[in-house]
Amino acid sequence: MSVWPKIIDVLASRDPRRRVRLVQWLIASAVYIGAATLLTTGVGQGWMNTSALALWLGFVVVVLASGYAALRSGWTERFRDPSLAVWQLSMGVLAVNWGYLICGPMRTSALFPIMVVFAFCAFTLRWRQIAFVTLLAVTSLVVAIVVRELYPHWVPAQGEVAPLRVDINNVLMLIVVLPAIAVIAARLSALRRKLHEQREALSHALSEVERLAVSDELTGIPNRRSMRFLLDRSVAFSAGGVTPFCIAVLDIDYFKAVNDDLGHAAGDEVLKSFARRATAELRNADVLARWGGEEFVLMMPGGLNNVSRVIERIGSSIRTGCHPTRHITFSAGIAQHRPTETVDQLLSRADVALYEAKRTGRDRYVLAD
Ligand code: GH3
Ligand code: MG
Ligand code: MG
Repeated sequence: MSVWPKIIDVLASRDPRRRVRLVQWLIASAVYIGAATLLTTGVGQGWMNTSALALWLGFVVVVLASGYAALRSGWTERFRDPSLAVWQLSMGVLAVNWGYLICGPMRTSALFPIMVVFAFCAFTLRWRQIAFVTLLAVTSLVVAIVVRELYPHWVPAQGEVAPLRVDINNVLMLIVVLPAIAVIAARLSALRRKLHEQREALSHALSEVERLAVSDELTGIPNRRSMRFLLDRSVAFSAGGVTPFCIAVLDIDYFKAVNDDLGHAAGDEVLKSFARRATAELRNADVLARWGGEEFVLMMPGGLNNVSRVIERIGSSIRTGCHPTRHITFSAGIAQHRPTETVDQLLSRADVALYEAKRTGRDRYVLAD
């Protein structure tokens, strides 16, 4: 029982998209095989020449085998349409009309498989490609009939060949029917494409909404909501102080003056630059979020060791390049989470420390308690 999935993996590959192409190819092959079997009965009835059938079968086998090899190996993935739909369907059209040429009195029904070709067109083909396949279907049938009329000895169909009028009727019927089918196929194909585009747009919009929900619009770093979430999680996980963490509340000094002197837009640029530069100084697990205005909260797993070094690194990066002409500094209040402490209690201790840093001159950090 369990051997079947493996056989299918080998035949149809594990790549899902390649698999879909190969399954479609398999359906097409089944139609070829059914048509070939029916044509073979024509030999038994004396309507068809064995070597003509053998030649046709040879063509079909080459088309199927090369199509399979090209799809299975992934060779076709270099093309814009990796299913090579136009090539496959053109070969189908030629096989149908070639079969028409050699099967004598059976030839009218030999045209039916052309409908399968057009059903496939509905999957991927565009208007121009479907028009091409339609034109190929009609012209190659006309060519087949003309060849048979001009060189009957080339086309060794046996049995009674009905008058040319039947052929003309067949061509005319095809001319009436195929464009209608082509239009329907093209509409279906366009519909599929549109659905696909809508799905893409929707998933794009969804990921954009997700991004906006957790990140700050101006600076692109995590927003207050996602920091709050992270702090709640960290408090829950650090129960008993097993996995300690620290926070720092960072507030830019005299930022109102930056706005007043340089304008609000320049203030925005300072905020963006601050977020970019501070984030660049963080260690792997540290997270910086914009808490609001010119205030940022930094979450750092672990104890107080090295925390001051991170803050100092951020400080020197901000001083040296946050604004080309203006000297930007910030003050920070740092607190380590205590077992049983809530997020609000922790934040409020860090705030008190920040206030202390502001009060004692700014451009500095203060450890809570
Ligand atoms: P201190 O050193 O005491 O922190 O002084 P400060 O001027 O930085 O503090 P204050 O809280 O008085 O001013 C903060 C200013 O930040 C006021 C507000 O206009 C400005 N601000 C808040 N959000 C934004 C923003 O998104 N963009 C800009 N450009 N300015 C903002
Ligand atoms: Mg400030
Ligand atoms: Mg402030």
